[in-house]
Amino acid sequence: MDFARRGVMLVIASPSGAGKSSISRALFAQDPNIELSVSVTTRQRRTDELHGTHYWFIDEAEFARMRESGDLLESAEVHGNFYGTPRSKVEERLSAGKDILFDIDYQGTLQLYEKCRDDMVTVFILPPSIAELRARLERRAQDSSGTIEKRLRNALIEMEHYDEYDFVLVNEDLEQSVQMVRSILASARLARQRQTKLGGFVEDLKAQIAALG
Ligand code: 5GP
Repeated sequence: MDFARRGVMLVIASPSGAGKSSISRALFAQDPNIELSVSVTTRQRRTDELHGTHYWFIDEAEFARMRESGDLLESAEVHGNFYGTPRSKVEERLSAGKDILFDIDYQGTLQLYEKCRDDMVTVFILPPSIAELRARLERRAQDSSGTIEKRLRNALIEMEHYDEYDFVLVNEDLEQSVQMVRSILASARLARQRQTKLGGFVEDLKAQIAALG
C-alpha cells in the first residue's frame, strides 16, 4: 500500500569527480518522483549546461540580492564561485510528496541541518582512490588543469566533512552505488514522521477489530 507522505530532502555530496553527477542522473532516470533542486550560481556556464536545468546562472549582484532578501535556503562559496539553493518551491514540493535531490557541498548541508534536519537524509560519496578522482576530472576535461588542481585541493576540504553525513559510500561501481542510494531513499520514505496519513489507516484497522465485538 502506498500512503500519502511528505517528501525527502536527499542531499548527495562528494568531492568533484567522485561520481555524484552520474549517480544523480541515474536516480532521475529511474525514479520519476525525484526532482532536482536547481541551484543558482555565479560560475561560468559550461558548454554542456543549460540555464534552468543544471543551474540558474546569475551574476554576483543578483546573487547578493537573493541572499540578502532571504530567497536562498543556504548558500556557499565553492572554488571561488557562489552557489545557493532557492527557497521557493521546496516546501510546496515536499508537501506534495515529491523527493528533492540537493547537489550541494558540506557548507550548504550544515546550513540545511539547522533549518530542516527532520526532512533530510544525507549521503556522502567517496572516490575509490585519488588517482581515480584525478582521472575522472581529466576525462571530464571541462576545466583547465589549474582548475583541476584547485578541485583536487578542494576535495581534501570536502572529504574532511564525511562524518557529518548520515550515510557514506565508496563509488567503485556506478550501478551498485545507484542501487545503494535508492535503498537509502526507500527506507527514508518509510520513516514514520513522513507517513502523514498513517494515523487514519491505523485508526481504521483498530476500528475494524473493535467492531468484531
Ligand atoms: P560545480 O561547479 O562542479 O557544478 O559544483 C561545485 C560544487 O558546488 C559541488 O560540490 C556542488 O555540490 C556545490 N554546489 C552546487 N550547488 C550548490 C548550492 O546550491 N549550494 C551549495 N552549498 N553548494 C553547491
